Amino acid sequence: MPRRILVTSALPYANGAIHLGHLVEYIQTDIWVRFQKMRGHVCWYVCADDTHGTPIMLRADKEGITPEQLIARVHGEHLRDFSGFHVAFDNYYSTHSDETRLHAEDIYARLQAAGLIETRAIEQFYDPVKAMFLPDRFIKGECPKCGAADQYGDNCEACGAAYAPTELKNPYSAVSGTKPEMRQSDHYFFKLSDAKCQAFLGEWTRAGHLQAEAANKMQEWLKPAANDGASEGLTDWDISRDAPYFGFRIPGTADKFFYVWLDAPVGYMGSFQNLADRAGLQFDEYWAADSGAELYHFIGKDILYFHALFWPAMLKFSGRRTPSGVFAHGFLTVDGQKMSKSRGTFITAESYLGQGLDPEWLRYYYAAKLNASMEDIDLNLDDFVARVNSDLVGKYVNIASRCAGFIHKRFGAALTAASSALLADAQAAGAAIAAQYEAREYGKAVREIMALADRANQFVNDHAPWELAKKADGEAELHRVCSEALNLFRLLTIYLKPVLPKLAANAEAFLGVAPLAWADAAALLPGGHRIGEYAHLATRVERKQIDRLVDANKDSLAPAAAPPQPVGEKTAAPAVSAVSTASPASSTPLVSIDEFSRIDLRVARIAKAEHVEGAEKLIRLTLDLGAETRTVFAGIKSAYDPAALTGRLTVMVANLAPRKMKFGVSEGMVLAASGEGPGIFLLSPDSGAQPGMRVK
Ligand SMILES: [Zn+2]
Repeated sequence: MPRRILVTSALPYANGAIHLGHLVEYIQTDIWVRFQKMRGHVCWYVCADDTHGTPIMLRADKEGITPEQLIARVHGEHLRDFSGFHVAFDNYYSTHSDETRLHAEDIYARLQAAGLIETRAIEQFYDPVKAMFLPDRFIKGECPKCGAADQYGDNCEACGAAYAPTELKNPYSAVSGTKPEMRQSDHYFFKLSDAKCQAFLGEWTRAGHLQAEAANKMQEWLKPAANDGASEGLTDWDISRDAPYFGFRIPGTADKFFYVWLDAPVGYMGSFQNLADRAGLQFDEYWAADSGAELYHFIGKDILYFHALFWPAMLKFSGRRTPSGVFAHGFLTVDGQKMSKSRGTFITAESYLGQGLDPEWLRYYYAAKLNASMEDIDLNLDDFVARVNSDLVGKYVNIASRCAGFIHKRFGAALTAASSALLADAQAAGAAIAAQYEAREYGKAVREIMALADRANQFVNDHAPWELAKKADGEAELHRVCSEALNLFRLLTIYLKPVLPKLAANAEAFLGVAPLAWADAAALLPGGHRIGEYAHLATRVERKQIDRLVDANKDSLAPAAAPPQPVGEKTAAPAVSAVSTASPASSTPLVSIDEFSRIDLRVARIAKAEHVEGAEKLIRLTLDLGAETRTVFAGIKSAYDPAALTGRLTVMVANLAPRKMKFGVSEGMVLAASGEGPGIFLLSPDSGAQPGMRVK
């Protein structure tokens, strides 16, 4: 009985390019969908651009075009990039559509009827020049903690402090530069704190729809206030924004618009509605409360809270079905370093394809790294080169390239019937491999497939067709060996097809077979089957191609044209963390506990912090260690104003040999963190620590 399955990936925001971080999710989802289709299930894969919000409106304004023109252009770019990586949506739509609007209005009306919508007056910064309320990310000012200038309204990039925009000193609008005013406005809220929402979610989050780690995480959010003072349980969600706003107007209001939560995810429904209308499907068969179809959302872990709490509650109380499963994945790192959109260090999909790199290399590498957990996955560039060359070229394609010629030259392109224990094993392995795909354990599936490829290559090596071809009586054996090897190659092609659709299509043409389905592994190619001409199936990737790609993306290090996508303001796009880190800690040599304990680390109080005349980077610190005082020159001037340092606690290396510097003797070192990007972050002990305490 074929299953009916609807699958979505998170909606990318129509304000930027698709990069390799995004592609983790779309490739992960596409592999799963292709697998389900190969299994004979009815599976639909829909997605859309998330097109609404202040950032889109302001960017279009800046470019001198309408938001509609902007989102149409970005839609084209996104679709081009996804297609380039063989991500095969059944529909790639836009949230700026009648279908999405109608469903958003319908859900809103039903939630209102259920008593779950409430209006409340809130205070917000307002730009009197632009005549608009300002999202946190569009307010800038001086950091209330360290005093750094030009910091965003939600956190400081110099010291890392998080705060409310109202705490900024000398705030100004990032849109017009004006000093913003506090103004009151009525906002609409979805009452997630309502007892029936809490009760429903308490049950739903534990009913197997979430990964175990995600379900545990959600219990923390669901904890009622009574349990501990720190947790408030679920809070109501602000679902409105004031005009001017690019989005859908809330019915019955003159100047209120649905905020992201009430239109972006409804884009899943809008996109499916559009598909259903075109393909003659019944919308309700997939979305009605009693739907027998399955619904899965693939998302990044950053939007888990929303998809695991807000969205199911919204669906439930508007009389719709809830998701069968929410599958969250981790973020992409490259060589152990997180990508940063704002610094332009991400590798775009466009540049990868533009450099002539094969998209299936990346699909294969991601598949080899992906599992069902929320762990981050690392694109290690050396490993990428090694694995693609060794597995795809050296193992899989090698089987065909070593045997095809003999079948053509000696046997008129016809195979002989093959059967062996090895073939039977390879056929039987299909069940376990299918189970791994179903469970999103692609890494395990790939390992099993490559273990089979190893056995197939060993078989070819052991029987050495090139030797058999020289023997007078080797003809029958040569035919048998090459036919068996090509049957093994065909089975491997079936198993790899969800990951490598284009390579599989070329392999099908070479094998002279119709598009392969999963069930085709049950049978082998019959005697007399004629194969096609062998054409080159896969090329090796060279390290220098990767170096060129990295260089090309380094060149694009330009200041962002628009403010970075607001964190938390617009989280419906699969965001990649903007935090920078240095190379992974696991790559540094180990030290023994004895070696470590030779370093005397102490809590120190900064008694005095002064500018050093003539020093560009240094601050002179007078450190109080309880029993004694030290002078230390610290290279932290780029990140800290001396005045902000006085009185705070930090950690110092107390037994570092004194160093004579141009400006005096430095008697130790304070500890601070830094990464590849800008920013220096001085360490602080938890409160209660006293100057002179040993850190160990
Ligand atoms: Zn700061």
